[in-house]
Amino acid sequence: MKEELSLLVQLQTMDLKRQKDREVLKGFPEKMAIAEKPLLEVRTELEEARERLETLHQGRKENELALQVIEDKIVKLKLRLTDIKTNKEYHAHLQEIAAARNSKNEIEDHLLNAMEGAEILTKEISEKEAALAKDEAEFLEVKKAVQSEMDAVAAAAATVEDEWQSISAKISKSLLASYQRLFSSSKGLAVVPLHGSICTGCHFSLPPQLIAEVKRQEKVLTCGYCHRILYAKTEQEAAK
Ligand SMILES: [Zn+2]
Repeated sequence: MKEELSLLVQLQTMDLKRQKDREVLKGFPEKMAIAEKPLLEVRTELEEARERLETLHQGRKENELALQVIEDKIVKLKLRLTDIKTNKEYHAHLQEIAAARNSKNEIEDHLLNAMEGAEILTKEISEKEAALAKDEAEFLEVKKAVQSEMDAVAAAAATVEDEWQSISAKISKSLLASYQRLFSSSKGLAVVPLHGSICTGCHFSLPPQLIAEVKRQEKVLTCGYCHRILYAKTEQEAAK
């Protein structure tokens, strides 16, 4: 029984380590996501800026076509001048040409604005591309570091897992089962040492007869208050 109790204590240390490893491993994706966030933001901004530039280009093409149409119209209007017979017709004709010229000016203004806008956007895009390249390089570094940290934790966890298997195989099934029940219900403290006559799980003072029995280590004994498995530290252990 002495042997089994000491195995249980070892198992408990490992189980606490396993719990911690699981927590650490669970935290890695979040760590990675936090490191990637600025990168994703710049990427989205860059996509939006590119879309805006594309819209400007599209608008420019449409305006260039419209400009061509209005210029052709002005040429044709001027040619019609020879067909005009009355003063009234002449006056109307001049108005039509003036209106066409106004439209032409408006389109030219749009084109100019679009060109200016495109210039600003192009500059903005190249700045964002540089920022993105920097963020990508930084993220790659973080990713590598997190990945190797993760691999190290996973490797250590695998070793603990192997040790856990080989130790648990030496403990009787029923004792292992009650230990595991206790471990999950008592949040990681299933086997506790005595401190004098006190259970270190619940800090209640235990009767002298139970203390004496625990010290003899002939059978598995539990605390009457918190039901944890009790063991007595050797003098060497107690001195630590
Ligand atoms: Zn107790």
